[in-house]
Amino acid sequence: MKRIGVLTSGGDSPGMNAAIRAVVRKAIYHDIEVYGIYQGYSGLINGQIEKLELGSVGDIIHRGGTMLHTARCEEFKTLEGQKKGIEQLNKFGIEGLVVIGGDGSFQGARKLTEHGFPTIGVPGTIDNDISGTDYTIGFDTALNTVIDAIDKIRDTATSHERTYVVEVMGRDAGDLALWSGLADGAETILVPEVEYNMDDVVSRLKRGADRGKKHSIIIVAEGIGSGVDIGNEIEEKTGFETRVTVLGHIQRGGSPTAADRVLASRLGAKAVELLIDGQEGKMVGIEKNILVAHDIADALSREHQIDAEMYKLSQELSI
Ligand code: ADP
Repeated sequence: MKRIGVLTSGGDSPGMNAAIRAVVRKAIYHDIEVYGIYQGYSGLINGQIEKLELGSVGDIIHRGGTMLHTARCEEFKTLEGQKKGIEQLNKFGIEGLVVIGGDGSFQGARKLTEHGFPTIGVPGTIDNDISGTDYTIGFDTALNTVIDAIDKIRDTATSHERTYVVEVMGRDAGDLALWSGLADGAETILVPEVEYNMDDVVSRLKRGADRGKKHSIIIVAEGIGSGVDIGNEIEEKTGFETRVTVLGHIQRGGSPTAADRVLASRLGAKAVELLIDGQEGKMVGIEKNILVAHDIADALSREHQIDAEMYKLSQELSI
């Protein structure tokens, strides 16, 4: 392997830059040239490809977003689009590719491998919704952003004695909601993986009020539905003044935490090692703090699960 490519795709996440940096530096360390592909699969199809040097990835380890930019690309879901992408890779003499992104991006990586192009996936998404890794790059930073926001909301909830519903991201996964709810002592956490009953939510709130609680925080994962609708329903059924905050895209940005920078550096470098090793169609991950590699196809076929023990604990602690 003499020349590899790297791209970021799908939703951006803090730490993607640290992963790009690790791919570039690790490859150059092993005398492999690296080409950066801009705008995800869209830039791959259009040939937005440039050689990266050691200095190209200087001063980015602490920055959120992705220096390679990212995009969503419908054309790449078609066989024609995928073939165009492979033509570009061949044109630039690129022999292996690292794709940093979420499960959608991994579908694209799997397709490239199926067409005979060696590709390795690096999990980069704030949602933590990829099987085969305990953590994805960006999750820890997003979690800390959410916690910071909820701490602030809590001040107002306490001062005004209100009920607050906070809607957090995560797509179909409840990890961000569960972890932030546990870390912030939320009274109720609603995640898509566990069915909820509004009567239970209401009686829990009333129980709290009866024993003198003046405010409550309810975390709603976006995968459940609209936080605004849930807030309205709660106000209607309890009569408590309820406000809703939808945190939105602040959760995707910001300087990556130390944990995300370290994770991204380890996973990015591991992806290059796998390519050097002649492996393909794999995703890198971390399980019990050990770097692992799984078949992308296997990882994609397994549904992401929420940590049942943690969910139970969150219920017990917010009794
Ligand atoms: P994420 O990677 O964050 O989950 P998306 O689901 O939007 O983000 O996927 C990112 C991109 O990956 C898509 O815009 C598309 O270019 C590519 N992709 C998604 N699904 C497929 C598929 N089934 N086949 C090929 N490419 C895909």
